[in-house]
Amino acid sequence: MKYTVWQEREKCIGCGACASVCDKFWEMDSDGKSKLKGSKKKGENFELIIDEKDLSCNKEAAEKCPVNIIHIKDEKGKKLI
Ligand code: SF4
Repeated sequence: MKYTVWQEREKCIGCGACASVCDKFWEMDSDGKSKLKGSKKKGENFELIIDEKDLSCNKEAAEKCPVNIIHIKDEKGKKLI
């Protein structure tokens, strides 16, 4: 199963939580907001397809985000967070 992770990047407050719990995928960028590594801009959001093995790392990042702007859905479009 593949998953889609997306970030409402405009709303990022730059707390660094995602990058601290999942640095394989998240890093702080020079504008003070975090960046989902390898993601592509889609509308207002930044999006990346991930494998099942990388779900827990990204899920933890999403759970730790204080403003809830990291989301994950599965292949069927079911939103996990
Ligand atoms: S945890 Fe949320 S608010 Fe904090 S840097 Fe990551 S995306 Fe931005």
